Amino acid sequence: MSIFRRSALIALSATLGVVALSPVVQAQEKTPPTEAQLKKYAYPLAPAIEAPKVTIDYSDFPTAETWAKEAKVVVEQWFPAVWQMLGTEGQTPPKEIRLVFVKEQQAPAQAGGGQISVSGPWITERPDDLGMMVHELTHLIQRYPGYAGKPGWLVEGIADYTRWWRYEPETPRPKIDPLKNKYTDSYRVTAAFLAFLANKYDKGIVPKLDKKLRDKTYTDAAFVEITGKDLDTLWNEFAPKPALTN
Ligand SMILES: [Zn+2]
Repeated sequence: MSIFRRSALIALSATLGVVALSPVVQAQEKTPPTEAQLKKYAYPLAPAIEAPKVTIDYSDFPTAETWAKEAKVVVEQWFPAVWQMLGTEGQTPPKEIRLVFVKEQQAPAQAGGGQISVSGPWITERPDDLGMMVHELTHLIQRYPGYAGKPGWLVEGIADYTRWWRYEPETPRPKIDPLKNKYTDSYRVTAAFLAFLANKYDKGIVPKLDKKLRDKTYTDAAFVEITGKDLDTLWNEFAPKPALTN
């Protein structure tokens, strides 16, 4: 929803003396890629799966009802798409995913055990943030086993890559500061770096890394194996440090 419409709504609510503003869903919904569109990613996709059953529970935060129903659609449509885009071949998808809306939770959303738990106050403030469901459902697909040296930055980077480069690729890119940022920054910075590498070296780099994390065979040498260059060299290509004068 536009900022204008939202402010108008807030003004209207204030006029009517409405205290709690229920989350309002953005007008346009993003459709998931078709099989033909998925194929343009030019790497072998994992086999298609049926959408898992998605249930919603907003009993702890009833005003989330409308948003919850919209989130259910996003998860139903995008879970199978992201499943195909990652290195999930031979894995078994969950039969059911639960979306639970809670009034008290520190994180905007968290995923685990077949459940995505969403903060009601967060989505009330940011009703346009439906894309976070794609980040979280990616975590449900990742379910990488724990092992020493598992790179948390890459796990978050992959989840943000599916959100920002697949679900909403039209959103503005993060500004990278070569003096401050690093590929280990996680989230959007890592996601932007992965998108650069996919474009320049290997369209299948994200599913390949995903597969290695799944098999517990990931080390930073995976980047050398896939691109022929190590992480620091690649990062410097993506975000070259300005030449020092003096
Ligand atoms: Zn995350």
